[in-house]
Amino acid sequence: MEEKNVTCKAAVDQIADYIAGNQKEITQFLADFIAIPSVTYQEGAAVSFLADKMREFGYDEVRVDPVGNVLGRVGSGPITLLYDAHIDTVAPGDESEWGGFAPFGGEVKDGVIHGRGAVDDKGCLAGIAYAGKAIKALGLDKGFTLWVSGSISEEDVEGSCVEAMLKEMPDIKPAYVLVAESSEGRIVRGHKGRALLRITVPGKAAHASAAWRGDNALVKALPIMQRIHEYQAFEEDEFLGKGTIEVTHVNPKTPSLNTIPGEAVITCDRRISRSESIEELLQEARQFFADIPGVKADIDTEEVTTYTGYNIKCVDYFPSWVMPEEHPFIQAGIRAYEDSFGEAPTVGRWDFSTNATSLCGRQGIPAMGFGPGDGALCHSYNDSLPVADLLKAIRFYAALPLYVSKIIK
Ligand SMILES: [Zn+2]
Repeated sequence: MEEKNVTCKAAVDQIADYIAGNQKEITQFLADFIAIPSVTYQEGAAVSFLADKMREFGYDEVRVDPVGNVLGRVGSGPITLLYDAHIDTVAPGDESEWGGFAPFGGEVKDGVIHGRGAVDDKGCLAGIAYAGKAIKALGLDKGFTLWVSGSISEEDVEGSCVEAMLKEMPDIKPAYVLVAESSEGRIVRGHKGRALLRITVPGKAAHASAAWRGDNALVKALPIMQRIHEYQAFEEDEFLGKGTIEVTHVNPKTPSLNTIPGEAVITCDRRISRSESIEELLQEARQFFADIPGVKADIDTEEVTTYTGYNIKCVDYFPSWVMPEEHPFIQAGIRAYEDSFGEAPTVGRWDFSTNATSLCGRQGIPAMGFGPGDGALCHSYNDSLPVADLLKAIRFYAALPLYVSKIIK
């Protein structure tokens, strides 16, 4: 064990020197990447760019799957890791709000790189992709297989495209997953999940001048919404806290404004902290309308088509995930961090949802989150990332597989 630690320490020092010596190239890589717009469902050009970069970086294999995700492999050892970051971004919005920076400029000012996707999530993706280059260049690609994915459409349907990726690529079976999203340099071991709950309230349409002939579904929906609003009886997870439920939309089915609605559909955002199953969520929902006949609850479904024309039908249910701090994978992360930076990392949770909802929450693959930058800047007009944070993250990403292959039996 002692000897193995020595080997790792020598490697993290090599990695540190390599990253410091390539700062200019790394910065240019991210700037060029930001300059290729990749708004959700329009990721094709950025995927081609990253696939070319991975080849140039000396990756052992590069693929674009039928869904449109790009994957690169480094090494061919017995333990398989997947590093995932999403390649899509939200739209740039109003360009005049960007404080003088072009949203697709990738401009560096005072050590900070600006542009759409800098912090969410192209900085992280550039980081994991470059870690693959460092591992190859330093000959550290032994004892593990590292797949790096630039996955699409996370901003709209997180979890769905990585789920389809692993379904389409059955030969890739990761034992561990790292999801790279901004975490202020903390190691993340969980986040809440979410579901869209749909409650359909029946009624009978009638002309509003003779409402007694019908049954107003919108009015029947009122007490249901009130009960949802007041509901507090969530079980608490000691790490993630309590779940929540909020009414976010009501759709009355009515052909005109002088007709009482024959149906009303209430949509609720339900945040999940105890990995409640769909059946448990529906069971909880039924108490809101137990005394009103004919009301039904289900989980919303949506259908998306990716830029390659691939169709995904997804149920709007994205479970929570929590990894115990003692888990060997989290411990490998802590050790890699300590050896790389000479101090203990902060270990915490994300308050937003990521692709780990599928990879760990749904598929049960042990996961960890880690990323550079300030998560509060995600989707903002100040989407930006300090270059120093990126360099530090790459050192962690490059070191982690060594620790996983040496610590985990
Ligand atoms: Zn993101």
